[in-house]
Amino acid sequence: MNKIVVDIVIPAYNEEQVLPYTFKRLDKLQKDLIKINVEPFFIFVNDGSKDNSYKLLNSFVKKHKGQTAVIHFTANFGHQSALKAGYDYAIKRNKAKYVISIDADLQDPPELITKMIKKAERQSLDIVYAQRRIRREQKSKVFTADAFYWLINQISSKKLPTEVADFRLVKMNILQAGVKNAKKPIFWRGVFSRLTDNVGFVKYNRKTREHGQTKYSLAKMLKLAIAGVLTMGDKIPVIMGYWAIANIFIFVLEHLGEFSSFWLFIFNFLFWSYIFLTLLLLIWYGFGIMEKDKIIYVVKEVVE
Ligand code: UDP
Ligand code: MG
Repeated sequence: MNKIVVDIVIPAYNEEQVLPYTFKRLDKLQKDLIKINVEPFFIFVNDGSKDNSYKLLNSFVKKHKGQTAVIHFTANFGHQSALKAGYDYAIKRNKAKYVISIDADLQDPPELITKMIKKAERQSLDIVYAQRRIRREQKSKVFTADAFYWLINQISSKKLPTEVADFRLVKMNILQAGVKNAKKPIFWRGVFSRLTDNVGFVKYNRKTREHGQTKYSLAKMLKLAIAGVLTMGDKIPVIMGYWAIANIFIFVLEHLGEFSSFWLFIFNFLFWSYIFLTLLLLIWYGFGIMEKDKIIYVVKEVVE
């Protein structure tokens, strides 16, 4: 392989418990990559951590001068916003052929990155996703995630890849297009899924978190789900159109025939959920509530 540069974006929010382990694994990764003529550059994004992450991250940068940087936020802007900051930095640096995003908590094994790069090079891919084989996570979390992805795929003309999160390799030109396209609230998986079909997968077993707790609260998960609907839901207007026509038929049917209370209940349910959804969409899109803040993140300090 000719020498290639890859930027690795790592968002971290209150990860002091896992960071010392993460650093060790990244040191090892760096050595492995250099052996195959790949030069990694680590871009940490400290998403307003209130613990000791600030100091830990700065000391890692000090130890790896010229090979790493950390962007500190003024507050907690969320995982997807942190990715945006890392992507912006990589684009500005303009050295990397590929940009990889990975969680800081080691649920995404850094060792897989070697495989992702090799695959991208060998097959000239635009995106390589790390795809979960087994998920050792709470059953309820897996179920809600599956239901969510099913819904997203119904309202979108483009399918989301299954069992993938934000552990992926993206070629620089695709990254630039994605960053240009991304609107608040950002749902990166959706943004990239719409830009290219030239993608590949490497499989891995996702383990449970070994250090620290999840930083995705229920509220944050809900926000991500809304971002997913807004990013992917290009079929929503068409679905609502058909549904409106169906409502007219239902109305006529209701007044023509004698229906059992069961069917009347179903008709009413369909009608009122239509009204509810219309109002919801009006609030989301029409009043632009989700876009009230144009700012995606604020940088306090960059240490490099
Ligand atoms: N994260 C972040 N900001 C947040 C929440 C999470 O930067 O507001 C980071 C977190 O530190 C981790 C990654 O995003 O590196 C994924 O979060 P987490 O592991 O808590 O999510 P889970 O794996 O439980 O879905
Ligand atoms: Mg995690």
